[in-house]
Amino acid sequence: MIYDIKIEKTAAPKAKPQDESKLGFGKIFTDHMFMMDYAEGKGWYNGRIVPFGPIPLHPASTVLHYGAEIFEGMKAYRAADGSIRMFRPMENIKRLNTSAERLCLPQLDEEGALHILNTLVELEKDWVPHSDGTSLYIRPFLFGNDPHLGVHAVKNATFVVICCPVGAYYAEGINPVKIAIEAQDVRAVRGGTGYAKCGGNYAASLRAGQKAEENGYTQVLWLDGVERKFIEEVGAMNVMFKISGKIVTPALSGSILPGITRKSCIELLRDWGYTVEERPISVDELFAAAADGSLEEAWGTGTAAVVSPIGQLFYNGTAYTLCDGKIGEVAQKLYDNLTGIQWGKLPDSHGWSYKVCE
Ligand SMILES: *Cc1c(COP(=O)(O)O)cnc(C)c1O
Repeated sequence: MIYDIKIEKTAAPKAKPQDESKLGFGKIFTDHMFMMDYAEGKGWYNGRIVPFGPIPLHPASTVLHYGAEIFEGMKAYRAADGSIRMFRPMENIKRLNTSAERLCLPQLDEEGALHILNTLVELEKDWVPHSDGTSLYIRPFLFGNDPHLGVHAVKNATFVVICCPVGAYYAEGINPVKIAIEAQDVRAVRGGTGYAKCGGNYAASLRAGQKAEENGYTQVLWLDGVERKFIEEVGAMNVMFKISGKIVTPALSGSILPGITRKSCIELLRDWGYTVEERPISVDELFAAAADGSLEEAWGTGTAAVVSPIGQLFYNGTAYTLCDGKIGEVAQKLYDNLTGIQWGKLPDSHGWSYKVCE
């Protein structure tokens, strides 16, 4: 089902950033955004592309009080052949609907949502930056928007898509990151919202993130919410380890986010003949492997950085250096292959790259 989209173009287009080396992440926004409203009994209505700007909200709006919000993060790339492409966009749309189901928010028609993304990205195509490693980050989000304070599943919602040109994540080559394992705060528990991409999970994670940063660490590696014994995921990335030649990654147990980069890495690794185990990994197992040298590599996977090698892990007062603090062979190969497919420089045998327009 294709949603009607009324397009109101801005009368005051902004100048595109001249120096693409200074784009950063999420600070510059394009000229337009997509918005659509939902009401129970009526469905989605009033799909529109409007000039980028503030969203008026009722002071009692559900999202402001009870955190009914879910989002997605994806990118559009200027490919080698000049076309604008997205990477597995239907996976993001399906995950948005999974998140919506968990938070009792209305779902979107998949084809309709893809048409929305296409229409907005095509309209904003001149905002997709040109330099190596840059892209247009797309942030769809959906929130409960009832104008009263009662706590219940919402009857009104709003879906919005905004876009930002973003810089190369690794401007000076891939730098391994330092990660702190969090032994106190937990991000999610089984039965909770860990598998949904929702703002609330991030709200719960900010304190540990701040503490890690103060101690010189980039991100937090979460442990399971019950025993605080099993590895879950890193900040906004899933995590993988190479132990004695095999790739091990935490299973999707319900409390971690099912990353599309994670899924794509697993598919590539299996193509290349690696054994990939999706199973629980305890911190004890990990540090035993680090101590006897069988932990060969560790890296995070997510849309923003694609693959982010882990050079150091901190836990309970001790720092462990991994892979000599350098990027490992498998992490590098995954990065090269995924980005090669995303920027249309390598053959796309899985059909992951999706053409938006020429
Ligand atoms: C978005 C996200 C990821 C990565 O998912 P991708 O689809 O690979 O970008 C991992 N963990 C969390 C908590 C996330 O929000």
